[in-house]
Amino acid sequence: MDRYHRQTLLPSIGPKGQQAIGASRVLIVGVGALGCGVADLLARAGVGTIRLVDRDIVDHTNLQRQVLYCQEDANEHRAKAVAAAQRLRNVNPDITIEPHVADVTAANISSLAESCDVLIDGLDNLDTRYLVNDLAVRDGKPYVYGGAVGTEGMVMPILPVRCEGPVQWDMPTGCLRCVFPEPPPPGTLPTCDTAGVLGPSVSVVSAHQAAIVMSLLIGRTGTELDRTMHAIDPWAGESRRIALPDPRPDCPCCGAGVYEWLEGGRGKTAAVLCGRHAVQIHPHNAAAIHLPTLAVRLVDHGDVRHDDHVLRCTLPDDVTLTVFTDGRAMISTNDLAVARRLYDTHIGS
Ligand SMILES: [Zn+2]
Repeated sequence: MDRYHRQTLLPSIGPKGQQAIGASRVLIVGVGALGCGVADLLARAGVGTIRLVDRDIVDHTNLQRQVLYCQEDANEHRAKAVAAAQRLRNVNPDITIEPHVADVTAANISSLAESCDVLIDGLDNLDTRYLVNDLAVRDGKPYVYGGAVGTEGMVMPILPVRCEGPVQWDMPTGCLRCVFPEPPPPGTLPTCDTAGVLGPSVSVVSAHQAAIVMSLLIGRTGTELDRTMHAIDPWAGESRRIALPDPRPDCPCCGAGVYEWLEGGRGKTAAVLCGRHAVQIHPHNAAAIHLPTLAVRLVDHGDVRHDDHVLRCTLPDDVTLTVFTDGRAMISTNDLAVARRLYDTHIGS
């Protein structure tokens, strides 16, 4: 019997829906906990092409929640996109998996998203989320937001004002900037690396994301789609739904068509400092960082010292983060992707 039999039995999917799922292509941006969960469900559901992008390698601390990876992937320091692709090909050899080991930036996101019908958030930082949002609105593609820190997660579909791909909808939603007009300053939000994260919380969020993606791929884009910002805490047994706003005329992105992360230089600039074995990360939302607060967050992660102007944290693998009050940081590595990852996970964005 057909491997998709139990799914095509569902009246809302049926053989026609299955055909649409099989003909579709999706981009998963980030294959951490959320990306693993979504990719696993979508590969089993038979999504025709799944493109995976991640800049990171598998670490032992990932195995608690990142369901596509095993002990050997961590022992061998395999690239996440490659390890995930290998696992997914074993799960479903009938579909195409395209792994990309890359740091997603304004320079490469358009080509990574090319010909993909839905953009899926598996990210750990806000800057790249605003970048994905810019691309989704500019190119008229749906963006399925997901996030989880601590015991709570949140999921929402973003359906831009215009739709240009094969997924069509009549009722757009506000974009990420309609909901959160500006990212908070670096160092103010908890991250999984500083606050921890519960495996079941990411699983519940990734399952909701996968359900939204499947709905979109079969054209279930009207009132039957969960068009809310849905916050879920399985640890507390609580969930809340907040209606998504309509697209706001005063939104810089979907109202005015100004794509600040994609085209306007917002986000972080990362540059290798020649001869210094260091990368400088410079965020452009130059709100001041409160170094004593950051020091408290980092105290479990390494040796932290700070004065009024500079904070230095030496991590266990001897990488040093030097953070200034304007959010700028110097990180003692020559690898841009490693530096950006350390910034996002230890300082946040
Ligand atoms: Zn907007």
